[in-house]
Amino acid sequence: MKFFSTNDKNHQVGLAEAVIKGLAPDQGLYFPAEIPKLSEEFISSLQDNSFREIGYEVVGALFSDDLSELQIKELVDHTLAFDAPLVKVEEGIYTQELFHGPTLAFKDFGARFCSKLMSMLLQNAGQKVRVLVATSGDTGSAVANGFLGVDGVEVIILFPKGKVSKLQEQQFTTLGQNIKCLEVDGVFDDCQRLVKQAFLDKELNEQLILTSANSINIARWIPQALYYFRAYSLLEDPSKKLVISVPSGNFGNLAAGILAMKMGLPIEHFVASTNLNKVVPEYLKGDDFLPKPSVQTISNSMDVGNPSNFPRLLALFNQDEGELREYVSGAFYDDQQTRDAVKEIHALGYLADPHGAVGYLGLKKFMADRPEFQGIFLETAHPGKFREVVEETLEMSIELPDRLEKFLKGEKKSEPMNAEFSEFKEYLQQL
Ligand SMILES: *Cc1c(COP(=O)(O)O)cnc(C)c1O
Repeated sequence: MKFFSTNDKNHQVGLAEAVIKGLAPDQGLYFPAEIPKLSEEFISSLQDNSFREIGYEVVGALFSDDLSELQIKELVDHTLAFDAPLVKVEEGIYTQELFHGPTLAFKDFGARFCSKLMSMLLQNAGQKVRVLVATSGDTGSAVANGFLGVDGVEVIILFPKGKVSKLQEQQFTTLGQNIKCLEVDGVFDDCQRLVKQAFLDKELNEQLILTSANSINIARWIPQALYYFRAYSLLEDPSKKLVISVPSGNFGNLAAGILAMKMGLPIEHFVASTNLNKVVPEYLKGDDFLPKPSVQTISNSMDVGNPSNFPRLLALFNQDEGELREYVSGAFYDDQQTRDAVKEIHALGYLADPHGAVGYLGLKKFMADRPEFQGIFLETAHPGKFREVVEETLEMSIELPDRLEKFLKGEKKSEPMNAEFSEFKEYLQQL
């Protein structure tokens, strides 16, 4: 499989280069040169397959030129070590729980696939690779836990000071070993800018092998398509029209759902659900795409003002904006609406986190006058990860799963960093 840059279709590279480079030299995102279609037979018999069997087929369709059958099996088995079950919340409305991995958020899928694939591709490199990650919360923990102890790889995590919940912070700053953390005096977009600048710095790239494990990396992005297939396979009535609402920040998750659809999965429509960082919903309504500084909300993993996967949304529809707007609609909600939704869902007997609640609202809005649809909203994190907000909203205490509790007891290790590139560059050169 070849991958092109979303800035230049003629710039094409192979799998290893796309994964190790992360970002194309012209700052474009890598994108598969061809999207393989899965057979109708496979799609219509999805219910008879386990999650892993689905994984072998889908990953095989994309990567069988580059990896052996055994490698694909190893990669999928490592990634899908936990399920993504569908839970019925009310008639016709389901949530897909994507939080059964080690850090209790959907990013575990991408991070596990990425670390495994990188270590396969790097086996012969013989030189240390630095993975740079900007995080607004969950990426850091998923990537750090995915790469912890992986030979030949050092992970450097940049996170905005005071903008990440204590619990999220503890999940990556307490690990040690090959995981280094920088607490940046700025917002998430500053962290992302520093990482992007490092990849573009000629001198730095001559001295070090730098790579990215952000959602821009195809090895983080592509495996997210797998759980959409799983969701479909678990529906009671797969013949009913399906809409999926995706709580979105950088829009990697949504773009992976569209990839699944383009590979032949019968999803009729998507809702891009966001908080007040609403650049994409406004674009989908007909405005231009106008990135803005991010604003802070209670669904803080979606506080992104300049969503990095936007070019992939366009590439998935061959730059046809009309088609993109036909298949994807947007919705955005403020913190009060989000809290009210957490309460509403709780009254239905389900405990949702603020991100899932935003997804629920977007789904309900779309389905309000479309009785022919059934819907799924993705529950992107365990409510315990956003304990303060959920407890305050529901006026009750919620229990943390053991694996989350464990992180709270660790000792935080991080270094302060200002938002100037020169300081970050110096830090990298001294590693
Ligand atoms: C990262 C994250 C999102 C946003 O996902 P994108 O792929 O960046 O759109 C939503 N919810 C949670 C809990 C997250 O961690």
